Amino acid sequence: MCRHLAYLGAPVALGELIVEPPFGLHRQSWAPRMQRHGTMNVDGFGVGWYADGDPVPARYRRAGPIWADPSFADLARVVRSRAVLAAVRSATEGCAAGEAAAAPFGADGWLFSHNGAVQGWPDKLDAVAALLPPAELLSLEARSDSALVWALVLHRLRAGAGPGEALAATVQDIAACTEARLNLLLTDGRTIAATTYGDTLFRRSRPGHSVLLASEPGDDGPEWAPVPDRSLVLATTEGVTVRPL
Ligand code: GLN
Repeated sequence: MCRHLAYLGAPVALGELIVEPPFGLHRQSWAPRMQRHGTMNVDGFGVGWYADGDPVPARYRRAGPIWADPSFADLARVVRSRAVLAAVRSATEGCAAGEAAAAPFGADGWLFSHNGAVQGWPDKLDAVAALLPPAELLSLEARSDSALVWALVLHRLRAGAGPGEALAATVQDIAACTEARLNLLLTDGRTIAATTYGDTLFRRSRPGHSVLLASEPGDDGPEWAPVPDRSLVLATTEGVTVRPL
């Protein structure tokens, strides 16, 4: 299982979000405090962010651990953004290694991350794969369960679903086929949609200023609130709504 986060709000350096918090994503890559599956997150990492006035985010992804990348340390110091999605990866058995399998996945201005696993990859997933047109199945960004989940979400978005609707329907579709853990994050740089389905998620909301959703709190401050399992979260800088999936 991975650890991930999404942020919207006042401009912040990537390092302030990811590297500096004492228990933040950088530390979670080698010492997560709440991870339920797996121990370390060293099978790649990625950060996606939006620049003001540009709806298409940049992504920086690597196949190795976040701490072993000196170039990221430089980027993290100087890149500032109002909207960020980042993840550190612990690959699920059978899934591809490499940069292409590291979140965030992205298309059409969206950024997406999956913390979890779809059981039975790849041999028992015919029913899940059948939910996608073959051409989209052939276009998976990577040979991994998370890339398949992303393709299902993107299919819904392109059919006109809103972000919350696309995530909720994808969780329901997959759960009807097989066992899965599906903590998802999706942003277009203005809103964040998220699900909890089998793992932890916390929120830190400062209405009018910022919102941060993260697999686990980056510090021991009092503002972090847990999101119940099996929830759909919709967040903007103005506030957060949480409803049962
Ligand atoms: N199953 C996904 C992968 O292999 C996500 C892993 C995770 O949550 N650790 O990339």
